[in-house]
Formats: sequence, C-alpha cells, structure tokens
Amino acid sequence: MKLEDLKHALSEIFDAANQDAVLTLESGVPGPTVSVVALTHGNEVTGVATAQRVLEGLKSGALKQQSGRLQIVLANYEILQDANDFDDLVRFRFEDMNRIWAKNGVDEHEYRARERIRPYIEQSDHVIDLHSTNRASTSIGILMGYEEGRVEAMRRHLDTPYVLLEAEKFLNGMSLVEFHQNSRKSGLSLVIEAGQHFDFTTVETNVENTINLLRHLDILEGDPADLTEQPKILKVYASGIAKTAGNAISWKYSDNPEGFDFVESGTHICDLNDEPVVVDRDTYIVMQQVEALHAGKEMYYLAAEV
Ligand SMILES: [Zn+2]
Repeated sequence: MKLEDLKHALSEIFDAANQDAVLTLESGVPGPTVSVVALTHGNEVTGVATAQRVLEGLKSGALKQQSGRLQIVLANYEILQDANDFDDLVRFRFEDMNRIWAKNGVDEHEYRARERIRPYIEQSDHVIDLHSTNRASTSIGILMGYEEGRVEAMRRHLDTPYVLLEAEKFLNGMSLVEFHQNSRKSGLSLVIEAGQHFDFTTVETNVENTINLLRHLDILEGDPADLTEQPKILKVYASGIAKTAGNAISWKYSDNPEGFDFVESGTHICDLNDEPVVVDRDTYIVMQQVEALHAGKEMYYLAAEV
C-alpha cells in the first residue's frame, strides 16, 4: 500500500466520524458495544486499513450488523493524517499513548487524544485494539484478564499462531486495553499485533480476525469460523526493560533473534543493562528489540506455555 492509500483509508473513516474521531454504527437491535481501535500507535497503519475494510464491507452489504453498536475509534490518527512520507510515521509525538492510561493528564498530544477517546473505551463492552510490530513477526493476540471463556474464544476464533496472556503485568505503564479491562472486567480486551508495521500482506489476516471476532460478539451477522489450527496459549512471566536508550541489549542465544524463538531452561539469552539474563524454564522469547527506542522501553517478553 502507498501512503496515499492509507491516508485515504483514514479519511474515509474520519469523514464519517464524529468530532471525537469515533465512527459509531448502530444496529438498532439491543446488544453489546464493541470498539475497534486503530492507530493507538501512529505508525501502526495496518489497523486503519483493516478498519476501513470492515467499513467498506458494511457499506457494500457484504457484512451486516446484527446487534449492538460498533465503534471505530481513531486514536493517535493525526500522525498519519499529517504525514507526507512513510518516514513521518512515528509511534507517538510526546509519549507512548499505549502506556499512559494510569498517568495524570498533562496538556500534550497523546494525553489529549486519550481524553478524547476515554469515554468511548469506558462505555465499550469489548475492545479490539489493532497494532503491528516494529520487527518482522507472526501475528499475535494479546488478551487481558485471564478467564477461561475468553481464552476459549481466542482458541476457537483468533487466527494467530500465538496468544499471550498476562502481558499487562510486565508492561512499563498502563495500556488502553488494560484500562478497559480494569473498568469492565467481564468483556474482551484484546490487542491484535498484525505483524510488521508496513507488511501489508498482514491486512488480510487482520480483517479476517476482526470480522470473526465481531461475529463471535454478535455485532456482525454470520457464524464465526472455527479454526482448524488453534493458537498456542502462552503466559508472560517476565519482561526486560531498558534503563537507557540505545544499546541496552545484546542478544546471546542467536545472531538473528526473531519473535517467538523457543529456548530451553538454563539458556543465557542476552545481556540487558550489562546484566546476563538466563531463563529458568522452557521459554518463548517475544517481541525482541535490538535497540532501545527510549529508556523504559520493553526489550522483550518471556512467556511459557500454559
Ligand atoms: Zn502498537
């Protein structure tokens, strides 16, 4: 996709949205309120392409609303709206919008965006927040709040090789979906990481997953497809946080660390902040970074099979 296509996808949603950059689609039939959130991170543009595809489907009649209310929430959308070049696409302007949900407000860009969308997140029964990853990766579901029914829904309907649980415990700050989970408790609060930010082949899977979940949640007509191959459910048990920006980490177990590398208990995986990190159980290493974008950045998560 070209930048123009992405900006077009954004403007199609934006032009139909209200003053808070939220597009509300009412079915007229009682049911849940579900938010699909795009652009929580300004450079994670596959989310807006996905949301636009769902909207197109509804417009053309290929998809039909069944019950409840669907909200397409544009989070940190100004970064894409103002971009002239892919190089202008950044994760955030002032502070990571996906880490500030427990912080006091200041009059800066992401805090204003948070306050704009907060009421819509609070009133949602379920939230699907569409993201993508910095480095090449398989798609991932990140589910808040361990609860067997929700985990089962992921097993049946989310076509990603892996679903992570309890990642929120190891995040350096409160994310949007964790905020939602804390305010609602009973609903689905899910991040879908599509793959690399600019790998647009991931949009197809993202669209399918989003539609499948919206069917599961009774927002869209039709039965959700059951998967032939279920995702592996992994529980996060640790993360590594960079103390300084730049070269905080050197990987030891591989010259080319990739998402979801599996290592056995006892492996010296890396040195972080000049300290060796040795895993004490069989572990998947997730969302490895090679360089710290800023101090406080999560450099990896460690997860084990449930
Ligand atoms: Zn993200």
